[in-house]
Amino acid sequence: MFVIIPDVLKGAPDIEQKVFGDEVEILVADKTHADQISEKEWKRCDVVLAWDKLEYDEQLLEKMENCKVIVRVGVGYENIDGPKANELGIKVCNVPDYGTEEVADHAIGMLLSLSRGMNDFINRVRNKDWSRSHEMPFRLRGLTMGIIGAGRIGTATLMRASSFGMHIIFYDPYVNDGYEKALGVDRMFSLEDLAKTSDIVSIHTPLSKETNKMIGKRFFSVLKPGATIINTARGPIIDLEALYEAMKNNTVRAAGLDVLPIEPSDDSQTLIHAWEKSELWIRDRLVVTPHIAFYSPESYEEMRRKAAEEAVRVVKGEQARNCVN
Ligand code: NAD
Repeated sequence: MFVIIPDVLKGAPDIEQKVFGDEVEILVADKTHADQISEKEWKRCDVVLAWDKLEYDEQLLEKMENCKVIVRVGVGYENIDGPKANELGIKVCNVPDYGTEEVADHAIGMLLSLSRGMNDFINRVRNKDWSRSHEMPFRLRGLTMGIIGAGRIGTATLMRASSFGMHIIFYDPYVNDGYEKALGVDRMFSLEDLAKTSDIVSIHTPLSKETNKMIGKRFFSVLKPGATIINTARGPIIDLEALYEAMKNNTVRAAGLDVLPIEPSDDSQTLIHAWEKSELWIRDRLVVTPHIAFYSPESYEEMRRKAAEEAVRVVKGEQARNCVN
C-alpha cells in the first residue's frame, strides 16, 4: 500500500506509520500544489491523507487511478470534489470530532477572558499599573447563554456553560425534539427569539449557504443590548461590518473571535484593524485568536491517528465511519 500525505505535515509520519504498519510506504510531500507531486506518485497511491492546501478537482482526481480513499485530516472538505470522487469510486472521509473538547473550552475561555477583563488586567500589571477600576468585568451567574448550533461542540459548550450558573437556551432546527429535555435546557424556535433573550451568544453551526452572514444587521437589530458574541465556528457566519457597527453603538458589549471571514486578517476588516491599533473604544472589548481553538497536542495526535484509522478501514473493505460523499 502506498500513502501520500501531500501537504502541511513536515517530518516523520510517526503517528500514521504506527496505524498503517511498517511495511506501508508513506510519502510526506509538504507541497502547496498538486503539480509539485509527480503524476506517477498520484497514479499509484492507494490512500491520500489530505490537509487543506491542495485542491482535489476533477483533473487531479482523474490522475488517481489506484486511489481508494481520500481522508481529510480535519473537518472541512471544501477542497475536495466529493461527487466527482464518488463517480471515480474514491471515498472521501473526514475526521469530525478530534477537537470537540478544545473548541468548547476555547469558547468558554474567551467568555471568561472577557467577563473577567483578563487581557486588560494582565497588560496593566505588566506595565506596573495595579489600579482596579475597570468597566469590563461582569458576573456570569444568572445570565442567559444562547447556543446557535447544538451539535458536538455546541453541546460540549452548553454543558460547560451551565456549570457557571447561566440559563442555557439554544437554537438548532435540526436537533430532535427532546434534546432540550435530556439536557435540561430551553429550545428557541427562531434565531430572533434567541437573539432577543441572550446575554451571551456562542456560535457553533457549520458554514453553509444558510449560515453565511447569519449573524448580521438583522440579528443585531433584535439582539438584547449589551450582549457578548463568541465565534469559534467559521468566520463568514458573522458579517464583520455589521458587528463593527453593533460594537460601535454598544449593542454588542464584547466579542471573542477565533475565526474571521479573512484569515489572517487584513486592513479591510475594520473591526479587527481598529483593535490591532488598540483604539480605546474596542481595545478591551475584543479577544481574537488565530483559528486555533481546536488545537492541543492531544487533539492533533487524535486527528492524525483517526484519519489514518479511517483509511485503513476503507482499504480493508470495512464500513467507513465518516464518509462524506
Ligand atoms: P456539528 O455538525 O456536530 O454541529 C453543528 C450543528 O449546527 C448541528 O447540530 C446542526 O444541526 C446545526 N445547524 C446547522 N445549520 C444551522 C442553522 N442554520 N441554525 C442553527 N443550527 C444549525 O459540528 P461541530 O463539530 O460541533 O462543529 C461546529 C462548528 O465548529 C463548525 O463550523 C466547525 O467547522 C467549527 N470548528 C471550528 C474549529 C476551530 O478551530 N475554531 C475546530 C473544529 C470545528
